[in-house]
Amino acid sequence: MKLKILHLYPREMNLYGDHGNVLAIKRRCEWRDIKVEIIEHEPGTGIPDDIDIIFGGGGQDSGQGKIEQDLHEIAPRLKEYIENDTPCLVICGLYQLFGKYYQTADGKKINGIDILNITTDAGDKRHIGNIVIKNGQFGELVGYENHSGLTSLGDNVEPFGEVILGAGNNGKDKTEGCRYKNCIGTYLHGPILPKNPKLTDFFIETALTRKYNTKINLKKLNDEIELKAHATAIARPR
Ligand code: GLN
Repeated sequence: MKLKILHLYPREMNLYGDHGNVLAIKRRCEWRDIKVEIIEHEPGTGIPDDIDIIFGGGGQDSGQGKIEQDLHEIAPRLKEYIENDTPCLVICGLYQLFGKYYQTADGKKINGIDILNITTDAGDKRHIGNIVIKNGQFGELVGYENHSGLTSLGDNVEPFGEVILGAGNNGKDKTEGCRYKNCIGTYLHGPILPKNPKLTDFFIETALTRKYNTKINLKKLNDEIELKAHATAIARPR
């Protein structure tokens, strides 16, 4: 079996080790003899037709500004993938831009591609620190957040998790991230996947099941180290 991962803007959008998410997916595939090909998408290039997982990281306001135009160029293809249930993970800066817009603190509006029904406006302080959330399907997830953007979910939008520690979407309503079909947007950097292996396997299993049109059950791995990393990160103060 083989999976193709589309990694959006690895140069401009890669904060706090977000690239480690792609490595975690790759490693957990290789441990099960599943081949992985990574397509690094840079502005000005096209998007292949046979992508199985989409990933995009976070970035500074300036990085978000740099990729805005290209993101709109590839948006129809991304929308098609997501409507067709392709698993997708977008963190912080790209989470915001998968929504309707991100308005920066200096008043610049960066238009999003409206895959997720969310809006984001910069607040007057940054939310920085370890964050723990609870998700019905994946249990407790831990990561690191650093954003000034405050995100509001639109009507009928499912949050990705409930905040246990930290700010999450906006520091007010205890929601964190957003899920639409198999597209998950979240503020959790860190990177999130290496220390939350159940979530990593969701992307792999969903992608394989979709690609091979038959229910795939992944071989269990020994997650002792991953779960230790998870417990250590949760025990750290904010
Ligand atoms: N620039 C955005 C903000 O500050 C996103 C930051 C990030 O990706 N960590 O909200």
